[in-house]
Amino acid sequence: MSDSPDKSDAFRDSLATIDQRGHRKWVYPTQPVGPLYRWRTAVAMVLLTFLFGAPFIRVGGNPLLQIDLLNRKFFIFGAVFWPQDFYIFVLSTIALVVLIILFTAAFGRLFCGWICPQTIFMEMVFRRIEYWLEGNGPRQRELAHSPWTANKLVRKTAKQAIFFGLSFLIGNTFLAYIIGTKQLLAIVTDSPLNHLTGLTAMLLFSGAFYFVFAWFREQACTLVCPYGRLQSVLLDNNSVVIAYDFKRGEPRGPVMRGRERAPNGDCIDCLACVRVCPTGIDIRNGTQLECVNCTACIDACNRVMARMKWRPGLIRYASYNSIALGQKLRFTPRMGIYTAVLLILVASIGFFMSQRSQVETTILRTTGSLYQLLDNGVVRNLYTVSIANKTSDTMKLDLRLKSPAGQATVVGPALVVPPQGLKESIFTVEIPRTNLFAANSGIVIDVISDGKVLDEVRSTFDGPDPRKHEEQKEHEEHESKEK
Ligand code: SF4
Ligand code: SF4
Repeated sequence: MSDSPDKSDAFRDSLATIDQRGHRKWVYPTQPVGPLYRWRTAVAMVLLTFLFGAPFIRVGGNPLLQIDLLNRKFFIFGAVFWPQDFYIFVLSTIALVVLIILFTAAFGRLFCGWICPQTIFMEMVFRRIEYWLEGNGPRQRELAHSPWTANKLVRKTAKQAIFFGLSFLIGNTFLAYIIGTKQLLAIVTDSPLNHLTGLTAMLLFSGAFYFVFAWFREQACTLVCPYGRLQSVLLDNNSVVIAYDFKRGEPRGPVMRGRERAPNGDCIDCLACVRVCPTGIDIRNGTQLECVNCTACIDACNRVMARMKWRPGLIRYASYNSIALGQKLRFTPRMGIYTAVLLILVASIGFFMSQRSQVETTILRTTGSLYQLLDNGVVRNLYTVSIANKTSDTMKLDLRLKSPAGQATVVGPALVVPPQGLKESIFTVEIPRTNLFAANSGIVIDVISDGKVLDEVRSTFDGPDPRKHEEQKEHEEHESKEK
């Protein structure tokens, strides 16, 4: 996408936050003011409340969201997913990726500016604390370059202490998504000496968050984030991004005293949009990889336009084609293909969800056991059954031999499986020898509850070779005739 009004694209050869010698250029953005910043604050508050509150919310007795790696279970909106449901999880992840690609093709990096946890934590939490303790961008720059005084020491120390405390809180919140809030509270309220390994891991985890938000910052978006690096292939001239209206703004230049209009375009070259940018770029150069679509430059420029009594929107959400050619947002063939793929994926997930059994059964022949031939001509095999109950209710289950004709009998206590629990048991299958036509036959077993078939499992059944049985019968008949 070449939407630069500036004919020189040299700025694309380097990052705005790294100087010629490869040293970091620290960004001291001015705090944005304006309606979009207020909206983003509101959205961030909702999302942060959800992030910190979700581990405590229960749906039908289950966590709202939890990736219980230790017990190999996933809880998504209260529904339990087992490793056997992994294909649904994979399909959902692919669908999410396609959704993001489709959304990006249409609306650019809207996700980064409004929903991405990195942007929300950085701009709405850590940066605000910085504004509170060290003042606005220019004041922060001044403080950074001023000699060390007691005042500076107190401010800097307080900031880093709060940053680490917050990082520790974030680390614990993510841990709650893995081990659950009960377990986390038990650990937190217990003596740290009993959890030295866990505490060390948590400190390292918190240290990683602290490193990102206190030092690494916008470089996570510009150097590391794979989504950011994909922008060049995901965006095209029809994608809506945060764009500078170069047709209206250029040629830029300061407005002359006593004149109502800028001498040329509407951009008065005040650099307000550059000063608020947390990634240190000048959006007037065109769409850039570093832009996280935070909208700060829109608010800044609109305030300038308001002061000049000109219409807002010199920087706005717009596609290159809408600015250059006056085209409206179009549903392009590329978006059509992404939409079709997404619909197929969503339909597949819906189908697999509807087919998802309430129980997951594994049946294995008991190791080392041979078949038994009983006096009444019935052959018996021994099996081990393992049943996972995916529901939130206790289940009383039974096994029934569906084919061939015969009987399945659970050995020992009845198969009662606790909610989201696992039960292992032993059972026998007895089949009259006359129903077996091979030494190793296939059998089908139904798992039933209240007369309803919940699962159907296939296994094998060993017995005497029927051909030898026939030969023996013929031999016995022959002998009896001779007698
Ligand atoms: S804030 Fe608006 S007027 Fe000022 S430099 Fe940026 S684009 Fe131009
Ligand atoms: S260019 Fe504008 S939208 Fe992009 S990161 Fe900078 S301030 Fe945010």
